[in-house]
Amino acid sequence: MVKTLESVFVKALSIIRKNKVRILSKTEFRVLAEVEGEHDTYSVIIYRDGRWSCTCNFGVFSKEDECSHALATKLIVGFPIIRKLPIIPELGIFGTCALVQIKENST
Ligand SMILES: [Zn+2]
Repeated sequence: MVKTLESVFVKALSIIRKNKVRILSKTEFRVLAEVEGEHDTYSVIIYRDGRWSCTCNFGVFSKEDECSHALATKLIVGFPIIRKLPIIPELGIFGTCALVQIKENST
């Protein structure tokens, strides 16, 4: 179980690092994004209250723990995450968000 959680988290981080998340629209309560996955590009919607949806298979079947695409989008915009995340001492979740913001500002 822990392995699964971590692999989704690692996938989400890799999506962020490779700059695969394109934010299409953003309000205080809802973000629409397009995420380039390994096999396809997926449409992701995330809400401030934690709800999310994604057009990948995992997104269709699970409505609780985020898929890697929804998780990556949530990490970028800082919306609440349902999934329990592993703690990476050297990086931390906030460290990742800061990295992404620096990247966005420099383009
Ligand atoms: Zn997905």
